[in-house]
Amino acid sequence: MKAQSREVQVFVRIRPTASFDTDLIECLPDGQTVNIHHWRDSRQLHERRRSQLSSQSFRVEGVLQDVSQEEVYTRVCRRVVLGALDGYNGTVMCFGQTGSGKTYTMTGSTESYKQRGIIPRALQEVLQEVEKRTEYAFSVHLSYLEIYNETLVDLLSSLRGTPQPSPRGMVVMEELGRGVFIRGLSLHPVHSEEEALNLLFEGEMNRIIGSHALNKNSSRSHCIFTVHIESRSRTLSDAKFVTSKLNLVDLAGSERLGKTGSEGQMLKEAVYINKSLSFLEQAILALADRRRDHIPFRQTKLTHALKDSLGGNCNTVLVANIYGEAAQIEETLSTLRFASRMKCVQTQPAVNEHVDPAVQIKKLQKEVDLLKEELSMYNTLVDKQRITYEPLSEAQTAEIKSQVQMYLQGSLQEINITSVRQVQAVFAQFKLSVQEQEQRVKAQLCQTSSLVERSKYQNAHTATVKRDIRGRTEDAGSFGVFAESSRNAHHPGSTRAKTKKGRDKQSKRQGTESPALRKNVESASKSTLNSVQTPEGELESEEPDTESQDRQEPFPPDTPPTKAEAFEDFKVGQGSEINCILKENKTVLLERRSLLRQLTEEVNAVKREIDCTAATIQQHKMRGGQYLAVGDETVQQEPDDTLLMQLRELKSLYRQRYEVLRDIKAEVSYCQHLVDQCRVRLLSEFENWYEKSFLVPDEELDIMMEKTHTHEEDNQRPSYEPLADSSSSESFYNARDRTLKRRSSRMPPSTPVQRNTSAGQRLPPIQHVT
Ligand code: ADP
Ligand code: MG
Repeated sequence: MKAQSREVQVFVRIRPTASFDTDLIECLPDGQTVNIHHWRDSRQLHERRRSQLSSQSFRVEGVLQDVSQEEVYTRVCRRVVLGALDGYNGTVMCFGQTGSGKTYTMTGSTESYKQRGIIPRALQEVLQEVEKRTEYAFSVHLSYLEIYNETLVDLLSSLRGTPQPSPRGMVVMEELGRGVFIRGLSLHPVHSEEEALNLLFEGEMNRIIGSHALNKNSSRSHCIFTVHIESRSRTLSDAKFVTSKLNLVDLAGSERLGKTGSEGQMLKEAVYINKSLSFLEQAILALADRRRDHIPFRQTKLTHALKDSLGGNCNTVLVANIYGEAAQIEETLSTLRFASRMKCVQTQPAVNEHVDPAVQIKKLQKEVDLLKEELSMYNTLVDKQRITYEPLSEAQTAEIKSQVQMYLQGSLQEINITSVRQVQAVFAQFKLSVQEQEQRVKAQLCQTSSLVERSKYQNAHTATVKRDIRGRTEDAGSFGVFAESSRNAHHPGSTRAKTKKGRDKQSKRQGTESPALRKNVESASKSTLNSVQTPEGELESEEPDTESQDRQEPFPPDTPPTKAEAFEDFKVGQGSEINCILKENKTVLLERRSLLRQLTEEVNAVKREIDCTAATIQQHKMRGGQYLAVGDETVQQEPDDTLLMQLRELKSLYRQRYEVLRDIKAEVSYCQHLVDQCRVRLLSEFENWYEKSFLVPDEELDIMMEKTHTHEEDNQRPSYEPLADSSSSESFYNARDRTLKRRSSRMPPSTPVQRNTSAGQRLPPIQHVT
């Protein structure tokens, strides 16, 4: 029996009868074909002519008419039984109308040995084969399940020694590797034919027998007698073993309800039977249709229990039991139709091979022991007797770790290979070191990239501001001409709006608005013309501040350059870019300051003119209280209209210029802020660079000192320390961390703009005009 696809084998067995209707049932001499000739509708038999007669042909594996029980077994079942002994699942199933001979075929007569059916013959064959096949150790178990009105019944539960049935009843279960099984169904080991037959007869006694119109002893239930076979090779000490199930199924009658005249309990039984058989038919149809991937097995207990006994890897045989009489022709036809559907089901018989894990482990353990023995023998021969092949102890692993660290430091020239386990442990240590190194480099890269990002952003932003300021400087050239038209007077407003928007955007990007900038913008946007003090002053020295110069770090033996020298180098080297930006920003700041000074003077000049004109008008008013006599009339002298007009124009001019001044003032503050930021960055980067380049941190010095004294303590330190490369990177990170800490603690609480404002020179105050 090869694991190749094959059809379900179908046999037709005709119950012997004296009134066999040869007109309706025609068995062809090939022994494989049954032709059924029948009237489509029997009620029309007398009304219509013979042209209504219809014929159907059924070709099966064999038509069993007047054949002995022995021949039936040999042709139907023997192949399946032998397959089961080889590890293939097998199912032999009888289907047909009540009384058609299903039970006779399956169980046969319990009184006549000659007329015994398939089950006792199969049991005999199985147990005889078990005796014969001495190279295998077989275990055979039997179970007998009845499905009555959708209830599972254990027909062997009455036997002594059978475990009490589970209170939850029996359940059809499925498990991976085990397939379908009935939880709670008792399995009985058998060692002889007699033992097996005892069980069969016990089960038969327990079958529920109901009286029936057609057959007083007809079974009203489906019965599944299963032989469970397991075999292990006695010759090969193999963990593999094979199992199989031989299902011998006696289905309940497939008759129609109306025909049997069933009532009450009988009717109920018939409903269940028909239901389960129609679901069986559906499952068969689905199995026969290769495009279907879902088979409705779970709809009834019968189909669920037979799930892996119909198609799949099973050798399946169906016996369709039919009557030979004309009266049963409709049922016969329906049975044969079912049989022809069953014939379309393909199965792929395959041996159920399993591996016993416990035996497998034992086998492997034995193999390992053997190999170890061989290896130790080999080591003795090549004089390598100290080697063991057990897993490394903690102490050995620690030793390997220390060796790897020393190797990486350079204090160990090479690591001697002693065993495969040791080589693996060495690699593991290297991997660990690389991972730790990676972590540190990643952290460094993150830090650096955030600095670079900030620097890029700063550069881009500075360039924007410079462009903006330059644009405004050009505009400011026209502001200088105060007599310009209102177009010019309006222009700065729009520029200011744009600049402010830009600054707001910038503030948003930075997360918070600079307090200094906010303060300046706010003060500049006050609507009243308050006296304004504009920051002006010299830029602070570009040299590091005294605080940073005074801070002395312990120098390594080769004395580093002084900070002043180093700063000069830094400005042209690594810090050149930020230094350049700082210079450019300072230049712009100076330009803006000078413009601001000029504008302040102009505004104040206008203010003085306003004051002057106002005073003249006041004088006119004072004099206006006196009445001058012109001739006979007394004329009150009005203040000079031209003076008033002039005063209005001056005030308007003042406001225009003041607005421009306010913008420039805001720009100066903003520029100052940028210059300060640049300076702080230049200094902090310089500090960072200086420490990184020239200073050895205190902790590292301590460690170096300690290292020379106590070698043991090396092992307690992080494993990366002894690496020649990583000690320098560790210093780098220590230094950077400390610098960052120092820098944050050194940062002035107020912004540089504020600091400069207080320190810088002031512009002359702008006088207030109401
Ligand atoms: P079913 O199980 O299909 O309802 P049975 O197997 O109980 O029908 O058969 C009904 C009766 O017919 C039984 O008495 C049985 O002995 C008899 N019978 C059926 N088939 C045969 C046969 N091939 N040879 C002799 N007797 C048969
Ligand atoms: Mg029966």
